Amino acid sequence: MKFNYKKSLGQNFLMDKNKIKQIVDAIDVNEKDLIVEIGPGAGAITREIIKKNSDVICFEIDTRLEKKLSEIKSSKINIVYKDFLKINLYDYIDYSKYNKIVFVGNLPYYITTAIINKIIEYNHADEIIIMVQKEVAERFMAKPNSKKYNSLSIFLQYQFDIKKVCDVSKNCFEPIPKVDSIVIKFIKNNKYKVNNEEVFYKLIKDSFRQKRKNLRNNLKTYDLNKIEKILNQINKDLTFRAENLSIEDFILISNDI
Ligand code: SAM
Repeated sequence: MKFNYKKSLGQNFLMDKNKIKQIVDAIDVNEKDLIVEIGPGAGAITREIIKKNSDVICFEIDTRLEKKLSEIKSSKINIVYKDFLKINLYDYIDYSKYNKIVFVGNLPYYITTAIINKIIEYNHADEIIIMVQKEVAERFMAKPNSKKYNSLSIFLQYQFDIKKVCDVSKNCFEPIPKVDSIVIKFIKNNKYKVNNEEVFYKLIKDSFRQKRKNLRNNLKTYDLNKIEKILNQINKDLTFRAENLSIEDFILISNDI
């Protein structure tokens, strides 16, 4: 039976066996771990991840896929037909049961950021492997002094190492979308420590408030003398823009204000 793809749900199903294998190979789990798949669709990735022997929980919004997905037989899979953005992950996942929790998803692009934010807020994701639009991936991985570097790049890189898994041409999907994709992997790192994360996150948000403006303009409500002194230690000053500061620079400032 021909499936009636819903554009409004970002339904472009991955057909390329090699790409599916590359994604699944990037998931490093064992039987004590949990894989959370967002948007399994017709189960292209799901059919492979169950071979890892971990517990699997999938969230799929479209109940029309229930019949197809019910063909996937495993005692370790639980498929929930709900909107991932609306559920409370704590109702479905007992994180204390698992060594590691890995999120996987080939997601509708228009909700990529919302989904990533939700996973990060949940705070128990050890790894996230997701397919995103090329330019979105570039923003996530952007380094200082590049146009694509923004507050989200810093929030993400502060918590995760971000690596590219593979490129995926638009021709690997059905129906064929307008753009090519990249699969990226976020691996939780504990390499940075800040005294107060709230202060750190606020400082970054405020520093990028108006991207074209310099730090003196964006940080008017702060003690600018203090910030200037810290910046001078790293050979910078208030005429720099947020995009010129590294994560380490923001940590240094936030620890001292
Ligand atoms: N993973 C499959 C694959 O690779 O072929 C399907 C990918 S398709 C790009 C995205 C899937 O996410 C669709 O099955 C769609 O119905 C589902 N979806 C869209 N919005 C969702 C949401 N808010 N919560 C859960 N699933 C969603």
